[in-house]
Amino acid sequence: MDKMIYLDNAATTKVKGEVVEAMMPYFTEHYGNPSSVYQFATKSKEAVDNAKDIIAKSLNTRGADIYFTAGGTESDNWAIKATAEAYKNKGKHIITSKIEHHAVLHTCEHLEKEGYEVTYIDVDENGILKLDELKKAIRTDTILISVMFANNEIGTIQPIKEIGEIAKENNILFHTDAVQAYGHIEIDVEELNIDMLSASGHKLNGPKGIGFLYIRKGLKLRSFIHGGAQERRRRAGTENVPGIVGFAKAVEIAMDNMSERISKEIKLRDMLIEKVLKVVPYTRLNGDRTNRLPNNANFSFQFIEGESLLIMLDMKGICGSSGSACTSGSLDPSHVLLAIGLPHEIAHGSLRLTLSEENTEEEIEYVVNEVAAVVERLRSMSPLYEDFVRKNKVN
Ligand code: PLP
Repeated sequence: MDKMIYLDNAATTKVKGEVVEAMMPYFTEHYGNPSSVYQFATKSKEAVDNAKDIIAKSLNTRGADIYFTAGGTESDNWAIKATAEAYKNKGKHIITSKIEHHAVLHTCEHLEKEGYEVTYIDVDENGILKLDELKKAIRTDTILISVMFANNEIGTIQPIKEIGEIAKENNILFHTDAVQAYGHIEIDVEELNIDMLSASGHKLNGPKGIGFLYIRKGLKLRSFIHGGAQERRRRAGTENVPGIVGFAKAVEIAMDNMSERISKEIKLRDMLIEKVLKVVPYTRLNGDRTNRLPNNANFSFQFIEGESLLIMLDMKGICGSSGSACTSGSLDPSHVLLAIGLPHEIAHGSLRLTLSEENTEEEIEYVVNEVAAVVERLRSMSPLYEDFVRKNKVN
């Protein structure tokens, strides 16, 4: 197969043609500043309002509760830092999970330096938050629970309804980082008692650099970016109108074809998981088998290095991702894989493949064969594997 097979949709997605088409006029024709008073600018203002309505409908809320940001990272920072600031007289304790994205974890670590206390709740071996630990962690000074909707590495979907109920019963605000889940699975902020929700355009075939934070009506959150009067003074700065229009178009498409897309992705995902587990020995699937994003597969292959696997798959035209984050020259295993209890050496041999509705069964077959071949090749060069074979007399 000569073409590239893109299986890294959790990192980012292709912008759909219809999305680009919807954005174009807002670069070339309707380029007015939404804050200007003349008629020419009303098209831009209307486009922003219309986008909020589209997004609000997808979450079962009101357009006025949607605030555009520059992406998921900003939305997470805003939700957590602004809650900390606004509710500090009530308390300085925040609860989150050990498997959050760094946009949440590093924000919490920053707040710890500022005198806040953060409890990081454990997850079980499938990556599901331990609800009993969450309940026990709640204190009179707890002001926020921030738990991601679905994990970006292992795809596990959290028991968001239960977490929302626990937060509500205890009068604590509930924020969820839904960057990986939004547009991929149904979300109703009312039914799930979500007070704040972060999302990002580039994870659902929209443009990069645009996201939003949903803030439930009545929350006294401070503004995050200070300046002009945009976004009702809560997030200043001239709106990214083409980005906003593109994001809303991507949401419209994602909502329209969701059930069809989910069944297609689940079929491909399950085919990938079953075949890889069948043909590659000493392999495990990471993340919950059923409560997982429709497009996520994450494996650990014993006796190999994830980074080498990625490079060799790249040579075969396959784009995937490893669980390891390469920070300043040292390879640290993923905090998510360690939190689900994997030993370092197994966490190091991990591969995340996240597909899209555009992938085909033929591509999955090709990927399974290449993964099997590359793993075998890497193992044949591994002294650890050689030792294991000798000790266990494996053929
Ligand atoms: N949260 C999660 C769960 C993510 O997966 C990501 C991106 O990978 C982010 C936050 C950050 O989003 P953005 O890239 O839009 O800043």
